[in-house]
Amino acid sequence: MNATAPNSPAADATAQIGVTGLGVMGRNLARNFARNGYTVAVHNRSPHRTHELMKEYGDEGAFVPAETAQEFVAALERPRRLMIMVQAGPATDAVIDEFAALMEPGDMIIDGGNAHFADTRRREAALREQGLHFVGAGVSGGEEGALNGPSIMPGGSAESYAVLGPMFESVSAKVDGEPCSTHIGTDGAGHFVKMVHNGIEYADMQLIAEAYDLLRQVGGYSPAEIADVFRRWNEGRLGSYLIEITAEVLAHTDAETGGAFVDIVTDAAGQKGTGRWTVQTALELGSPVTAIAQATFARASSSQADLRAAYRGLPGGTTPPLSRTEAERFTAQVEQALYASKVIAYDQGWKMIQDAATEYGWSIDLAAVAGIWRGGCIIRASFLDRIRAAYTADPGLVSLLGEETFAREIGDAQVPWREVVASAARRGIPVPAFSAALSHYDTLRAERLPAALLQGQRDFFGAHTYGRTDRSGTFHTHWSRPGRPETTA
Ligand code: NAP
Repeated sequence: MNATAPNSPAADATAQIGVTGLGVMGRNLARNFARNGYTVAVHNRSPHRTHELMKEYGDEGAFVPAETAQEFVAALERPRRLMIMVQAGPATDAVIDEFAALMEPGDMIIDGGNAHFADTRRREAALREQGLHFVGAGVSGGEEGALNGPSIMPGGSAESYAVLGPMFESVSAKVDGEPCSTHIGTDGAGHFVKMVHNGIEYADMQLIAEAYDLLRQVGGYSPAEIADVFRRWNEGRLGSYLIEITAEVLAHTDAETGGAFVDIVTDAAGQKGTGRWTVQTALELGSPVTAIAQATFARASSSQADLRAAYRGLPGGTTPPLSRTEAERFTAQVEQALYASKVIAYDQGWKMIQDAATEYGWSIDLAAVAGIWRGGCIIRASFLDRIRAAYTADPGLVSLLGEETFAREIGDAQVPWREVVASAARRGIPVPAFSAALSHYDTLRAERLPAALLQGQRDFFGAHTYGRTDRSGTFHTHWSRPGRPETTA
């Protein structure tokens, strides 16, 4: 390989895209681009990964291996398109700094890692100053998706998407022939939407786990029987990747013990942080993503070994076991509760995206977000078609509860949903995500909330003032001198 000065016309500048960071995701994305007919320059901090990729997969397409940053940049056609697939945080900053110094105005740096959207906004602004396009692109679907078609959520300028869009669309997953990639919005919008995707994923997984726990503890079913229930549900409106893999995990037996795999696994859930970011950001935006928050806290609680050891075995509720007929009826109720809770959790995610769009000045097509999540990503699900249709029919829809079919389904779920949450409480089974979703629904439908009392309390101790239902204005009561009239602040 000859080192070529990056800013001189290079005879070997043949690559339409370059990927640096050839770990799990980068290697597979590079192969995906190559398999789709692109010439791909490949580079890694430790060259052995580049050599391995060339040795194992070099015949899959046109790759240009590069040992050094200079060789890598020189191999790229102009405007250069350079994709970074490294760990979020300082590693991403270090790689951007290294390559930005070698690029020219109009070139594009794409960060396909799981960056925090605020970092993406900062980086985009800084690189714009240098005349470079910086595109924070959320990539979902894990290792398999990166290779065979992920869901891609690019932010950055519309100008950069005009160049990159066709490439992203060709390597993305396809559903009914439609690509699972779209321009989400400017600067950090892509990474924001990817973060919310992961938050929804946390909620969906926790809801499914709670449904399993109820079927096991209340219904009295074995993991293998519950796997069959999930397989059945996967044929209906709950049909999704997560329901499908849940059935597989539940049906799996541990090779060593011959028992159910799920019984041999430590019940402490890990996380890499995107759920936490969603909740932290939701608090800043004032977006009530309560099901996502409870799902994130549920993982934290499960991992609090000391706390759980201190309280394990304390009294809780009990009720007699269900007969088989009652268990079948209960299973149908759990399906209703799971579906209704899932609609609420997804609705919370969409509202959070709307809130962020207002805050950051993004113009986000909410129907398109549903469209690109139908394939490639972890939360791909059949009902995303209907969410897309709902936002297509009314782009300004504030909540899915305002859409006729969803509203009817949630109406039909009322008795079973409440019965399931009540059964869990009676038996002492934790259902934090189910409960949060139901409480959120009840909060939205309430005529009056006790927030009025909170306002009274706040005015009492802090003179924080309150509004009145009977006239406009801002008021304060002289609590220590009850005789004095209320004042307008
Ligand atoms: P990985 O397998 O651990 O690979 C990490 C890569 O980053 C390696 O190529 C490594 O190079 C490089 N790297 C780390 N620090 C660096 C630095 N300071 N300078 C230069 N290169 C550096 O990671 P991955 O799973 O592919 O994830 C890559 C990105 O995709 C992350 O942001 C991750 O959050 C995101 N992501 C992952 C998944 C998934 O399912 N794994 C899904 C979606 C998004 P060396 O070989 O030299 O160490």
